[in-house]
Amino acid sequence: MSSPSPPTVDQSAQQTMDLERDYVLQNYARYPLVLARGKGCHVYDLEGHRYLDFIAGIGVNALGHAHPRIVAVIREQAGLLIHTSNLYYNQYQGPLAKRLAEISGLQRTFFANSGTEAMEGALKMVHAHGRAIHPEKYEIISLENAFHGRTLGALSITGQAKYREDFEPLIPGVKFIPVNDMAALEAAFNERTAGIVLEMIQGEGGINPLTHEFVAKARELADRYNALLVADEIQCGVGRPGTYFAYQRSHPVILPDVMAAAKPLACGIPLGVIVANEKAAAAIKPGMHGSTFGGGALACRVALEFLDILDELLPSIQRVGGYFHVVLNELARKHGFVNEVRGFGLMLGMELAIPGKQIVLDAMAEGLLINCTHETVLRFLPPYIATEKEVDQAVKVLAKLFAKVK
Ligand SMILES: *Cc1c(COP(=O)(O)O)cnc(C)c1O
Repeated sequence: MSSPSPPTVDQSAQQTMDLERDYVLQNYARYPLVLARGKGCHVYDLEGHRYLDFIAGIGVNALGHAHPRIVAVIREQAGLLIHTSNLYYNQYQGPLAKRLAEISGLQRTFFANSGTEAMEGALKMVHAHGRAIHPEKYEIISLENAFHGRTLGALSITGQAKYREDFEPLIPGVKFIPVNDMAALEAAFNERTAGIVLEMIQGEGGINPLTHEFVAKARELADRYNALLVADEIQCGVGRPGTYFAYQRSHPVILPDVMAAAKPLACGIPLGVIVANEKAAAAIKPGMHGSTFGGGALACRVALEFLDILDELLPSIQRVGGYFHVVLNELARKHGFVNEVRGFGLMLGMELAIPGKQIVLDAMAEGLLINCTHETVLRFLPPYIATEKEVDQAVKVLAKLFAKVK
C-alpha cells in the first residue's frame, strides 16, 4: 500500500470546492479560486498568490480590503451592539438617513439588507402609490437589459428573459423598452403607469449609460402621468461614477422620486437602502413595510464611516477613472476585436466582438480579477482607492492577453 501523499495547500482549495459542490446549492458558476484574505486593492488565495482585484466583490468593496478605518469601526461596534431589530432605535440610523438625504437630494430612507431587497421596497412604493390613485394604476416601465435583482418582484422588472423565464408568471403590467429609445418611452406611458425604473448606467446589461435626453423625458412623462421615477443606483451609485449618484452626472440634475442603493454602501457588510422624496414616501404608511435586520447598528455605522471617507475620494475616482478610460481606449484602438469602451468614473466596460469569458480566466491566471457581463463586455469595478499605478498594472495584463487573441 502506498503511503498517502502529504497534504498540500492546493488540496485544501480542492477540499473547499468539493464541499461546496456536495453541499451548497449549485446555482453559481464559480471561478476555481478560493480567496483567503485581502489588503487594499489586492486579494490572496490559499496559497498566497496575489490578485489585483478590479471587480471588488461586484462593486461592493469600495474601499478595497481590510481598510483600517472600516476594520476599526467594525471591531468597536461589534463589541458594543450589532443588531437590535427595529423595535428600538439605534444611534446610527438617523444620522445615516440624514447624510443620505444630504447627498441624494431626497428625504426619507428605508433600510434593507441587499440591493434586491431595496428594489422590492421601491416596487411596493410604486404599487402603493398607484393603487392610492386607482386600482388599475399598477403598470411599471423598465428597460431591456436592465438588472434589478432576483426576488420575484425585482425579477419582474429585470429586462433579460434568461433570468425571468424559469419563474414566470411574475408580477403583471411590466413593459420593457429599449435603452435611450425616446419614441418607445413616450409610447409606454399612460394613465395606468405607476412607475418607471432606470439604472442611469446599466451594470449587468453591459455598462450602458442612459442619455440625459432620455432621463429628462422620463422625468417629464412621470410627472405628466403622476408616476414615480425610481433610480436603481445599486451598482452605478454611491461614488462609483465620480459623483455620489449617477443621476447627479447630468446638468441640471434630474432627481428621481425614489433611489435604491446597496452594493458599496457598507463596504461588504450587507446594507441596502431606498431613499424617497416626501411624495413617494407618503405611499408607505405604518405597518406597510419592514425588515428585521435592516438598519442594524453595525451596518449603519460602517456606512457612515464609509460616506465620511467617500467625500475625500470623489476627486480621485474622477481622476483615476478618467485615466483608466483613456488607457482602455488606447488599448481598444490597437485591437480590431474591441468595439467600444463605455462608462464613467470607476465603472467601465469594454465591449468585445468576441466572448469575454476566456480573457477573464486568462487574466485570473495573470493575477488580475475582472469579470465579463452580457457575454462580451469586460467589466471593471475597481475599489475607489485604486490609483493610476493599479490601473497601469491591470492594463498591462490586458495588453498582454489581447496580443495573444487570434
Ligand atoms: C446587484 C444589483 C442588484 C441586486 O442587488 P443584490 O444585492 O445582489 O440583491 C439590483 N440592481 C442592480 C443595478 C444591481 O447591480
